[in-house]
Amino acid sequence: PERSEVHYFGAGPAPLPTPVLQKASKVLLNYNNTGLGLTEISHRSPEANAILAHTQDALRQLLDIPTGDGPDGYQILFLQGGGSGEFSAVVYHMVSIFIASLVAKHGSGSGESALEQEKRKMRLDYLVTGSWSLKASQEAARLIGKEHINIVCDARKGESGKFGSIPAQTSWSPTASDEDVALTYYCDNETVDGVEFPSPPSGKNLIADMSSNFLSRPVDVKRHVAIFGGAQKNIGTTGITIAIVSNSILPVHAPMADSEVLRKLGLSVGPVVLDWPTIAKNNSLYNTLPIFDVWIAGQVMERLLTQAPDLKSPRIATQAAESNKKASLLYGVLDAHPNVYTVVPEKDVRSRMNLCFRIKGGDAEAEKVFLEGAEALGLLGLKGHRSVGGIRASNYNAVSVQAAEKLAKYLEEFASKQAG
Ligand code: PLP
Repeated sequence: PERSEVHYFGAGPAPLPTPVLQKASKVLLNYNNTGLGLTEISHRSPEANAILAHTQDALRQLLDIPTGDGPDGYQILFLQGGGSGEFSAVVYHMVSIFIASLVAKHGSGSGESALEQEKRKMRLDYLVTGSWSLKASQEAARLIGKEHINIVCDARKGESGKFGSIPAQTSWSPTASDEDVALTYYCDNETVDGVEFPSPPSGKNLIADMSSNFLSRPVDVKRHVAIFGGAQKNIGTTGITIAIVSNSILPVHAPMADSEVLRKLGLSVGPVVLDWPTIAKNNSLYNTLPIFDVWIAGQVMERLLTQAPDLKSPRIATQAAESNKKASLLYGVLDAHPNVYTVVPEKDVRSRMNLCFRIKGGDAEAEKVFLEGAEALGLLGLKGHRSVGGIRASNYNAVSVQAAEKLAKYLEEFASKQAG
């Protein structure tokens, strides 16, 4: 089929018929009449710098990201290595800051054993609410040892081991002393399990993975020391990862530990391409940046800004309203047919981005028939993640209202057929 004949409930940069992708094919051949395509121009050219600045500026406007060089300001970084790369980056970075604070506390003449003793108490708090936060916590354990990882809450349910809830904060077990906490980590939206935090949790040095709900609602950036996410779900094309990093954890305001000290304590220094201070110092141009991906992200952001012309802050509120509208429409139909559809996660933590549900309690044949019927109508990408099965309708920004409406209609028709 033609691209315009299908609706895809998966990751991607922009809904059709917006001009982003059409424009993208043109700039690949010839960018702004330079005679060169966008993947040919140097990432250090004035054109590339302008693209970078435009995308950073658009993101700042959309999410109201604080500016300035003071500790309250935030840097916007573009990295490679995906969300998974940042699972490692956050550990290297925050551990280094934590160790530097110990060195400062004990003085430079402190014996190794005093530092060693304090280091043993270091904890990284992880809220495990789905497959991705679980992976992030496992990566942290791999890098620094599981004795340093505190699983504040584990949302896996009893025997099934399945996710689908966020335990009440009263049942959490954060590290006893804030002094020992290097970071508190959560995944705002669990892509595979369809669980989303209604609002950010609290915790010292809060870090959020927003890979799958970036730019879908306002974010209280100031509550976080860092927010990161791969661009490929809601922001653009695969190839860049965005990190919004507080100046308060960058070297001008927070010293990093010397690599020798880290090594003596049995901790390693991370690869330079994941090193936030290096990337920040070089305005994301430390090494070759895929500028085409940054351009796409900038165009997608521009679309969101023009969608919200009244300058009401934060500008992302307009997209948030659309995301809510699409999600409510679809959950409304699913809830109206409890004999056919079961939404996997609990109601108060259902994701607006990834709607995970089962048909007839997970009847393999019924789910197969559902998917085949959807495909015949050009409704694609509805198969659940291979690790959990079932159906997943991703409701990213690129999924248009018309697409959601068409899916809602199909859900209704399928349910009626099952009843009849
Ligand atoms: N975090 C979340 C919430 C994700 O959905 C994903 C990928 O789907 C990742 C992290 C991993 O991202 P990447 O594949 O870019 O490493």
